Amino acid sequence: MVDDAAEAAAALAEREPRWQDYAACSGLGKLFFSTRKEDVREAKRICQTPCPVKQECLDEALQLETSANSVFGVRGGMSDHERKALRRQPRRGGRI
Ligand code: SF4
Repeated sequence: MVDDAAEAAAALAEREPRWQDYAACSGLGKLFFSTRKEDVREAKRICQTPCPVKQECLDEALQLETSANSVFGVRGGMSDHERKALRRQPRRGGRI
């Protein structure tokens, strides 16, 4: 068991860093997928701390959420409703 944990830690240390490694919400998943208004507000506040990977997070959410049914949770500083509205807007080029 200890060997497995040590191997996993070593593999993690050797891999290339990903943008998720720098997320301000690391370890706070439940809060970001709650439907309670207070939790959504708190999650969005954490995104504004600022989170250094907010744009990457939002880009990925918009890319992965290909249907209205697959949109949920706070990502990139926006609620699911805000991202749905954003996806309905015509593209203007450039980043959001
Ligand atoms: S923008 Fe918000 S949801 Fe995305 S990684 Fe940062 S803190 Fe997490």
